[in-house]
Amino acid sequence: MDTIKGIKGVKDILPEETPRWRFIEDAARRWALAYGYQEIRIPIFELTALFARSIGSSTDIVEKEMYTFPDRDGSSLTLRPEGTAGTVRAFIEHNRAADPVPQKYFYLGPMFRHERPQAGRLRQFHQFGVESFGTSDPRADIEVIALLWRLLSDLALPDLTLEINSLGGAGDRAAYKPLLRSFLSQQESRLCENCRRRMETNPLRVLDCKVPDCRTVTESAPRLTDHLSPDARTHFDQVLEGLTAIGVPYRLNPRLVRGLDYYCLTSFEVTSTHLGAQNAVGAGGRYDGLVETLGGPSVPAVGFAVGLERMSLMLPPESFSSTNDCHFYVAAFGEKGTRIGLVLLDELRRAGLSTQCDYRSTTLKAHLRQADRLQCRYAILLGDDEANCGSITLRNLESKAQENLPLAGLPSLLKSRVSL
Ligand code: ATP
Ligand code: MG
Repeated sequence: MDTIKGIKGVKDILPEETPRWRFIEDAARRWALAYGYQEIRIPIFELTALFARSIGSSTDIVEKEMYTFPDRDGSSLTLRPEGTAGTVRAFIEHNRAADPVPQKYFYLGPMFRHERPQAGRLRQFHQFGVESFGTSDPRADIEVIALLWRLLSDLALPDLTLEINSLGGAGDRAAYKPLLRSFLSQQESRLCENCRRRMETNPLRVLDCKVPDCRTVTESAPRLTDHLSPDARTHFDQVLEGLTAIGVPYRLNPRLVRGLDYYCLTSFEVTSTHLGAQNAVGAGGRYDGLVETLGGPSVPAVGFAVGLERMSLMLPPESFSSTNDCHFYVAAFGEKGTRIGLVLLDELRRAGLSTQCDYRSTTLKAHLRQADRLQCRYAILLGDDEANCGSITLRNLESKAQENLPLAGLPSLLKSRVSL
């Protein structure tokens, strides 16, 4: 019969890779908690309108990357392409703005975008993200950037650069867009087809285009940071001063606009030359208008999202242990040994000692081979001889040293005797 394959761009994460993933996820959780962020778990699918309204209808994500399908009642649903929209919806729906303590959330989980699969670009991928609601103070921007930077540095990811820009307030962008548009229209023949269209619908997007010719054109485009209002300028300067004060290095990038429409003021991205074409590790910014756009009160907010696949690609192999953490192997053989071995195996596991056994092995030799393959630290030998004396032989699989121990009370004896 034909086999049924997984979907293109949707990967299995096999047991050999999960230690690396757990290592990254544990670090993300630890850093988020240290900065006072609490975990939120939002649904994987939502009404399509949520994403269309928040991310922006003329962005790549909404125009061509979403997995959208009709529900049985005809309503349009979409697999989440990112985590901010759902987090904001939950924030509004549960009236969290009324809570007097700061609302700071983090999430970890799969996201879905219909993209051309390649290294570091999948259709189901995973993000860690944080959202800080309720303050427009530049220290909140500094906090989320610091959290991202500390996490990536802690993981020793190589060749990182933090790029930062200010998108100003809505008024600043409204005043800047005609300047940009008139600059672009003079260069129209050199722009890609997509950008010629975007020039009208969403000219800021042109600055984000990856096509080399478009990049050359926008190199000399007027800069939004030269047209910031005094408030936006002050906010940006305070963010930059704060980053310097805490020792987070950055590079100004006046073209950084990000692929989502909801950002204002601070916008940032961390890239690595280690990643090749898919060089963005994570990105974020301020989105003061989004809660209101989605029907909530006026609540300023700032956040980021990082891609776990890209973090995983960059993680130095020596920074985490990929060896099996199973410590014991019960090598039970013979009629009585096998019978008692069944009980011992369960006792050791109930005592919290990670223990393996291969039920296909019936001889000591076969058991020891499997214990080695499974990278266990100790084998507990239990044949009929041992069973008759009420004892076991503990074998250190590295040094091959053996000692005889009583079967009764073995779990607690092992815990006190053996350093794991
Ligand atoms: P890119 O420019 O690489 O398309 P993006 O601007 O679309 O990135 P965001 O929406 O800001 O990315 O998502 C934040 C992070 O999530 C990215 O920096 C990246 O690490 C990761 N990411 C985004 N899309 C994918 C994908 N299709 N596959 C794997 N990781 C992704
Ligand atoms: Mg993208």
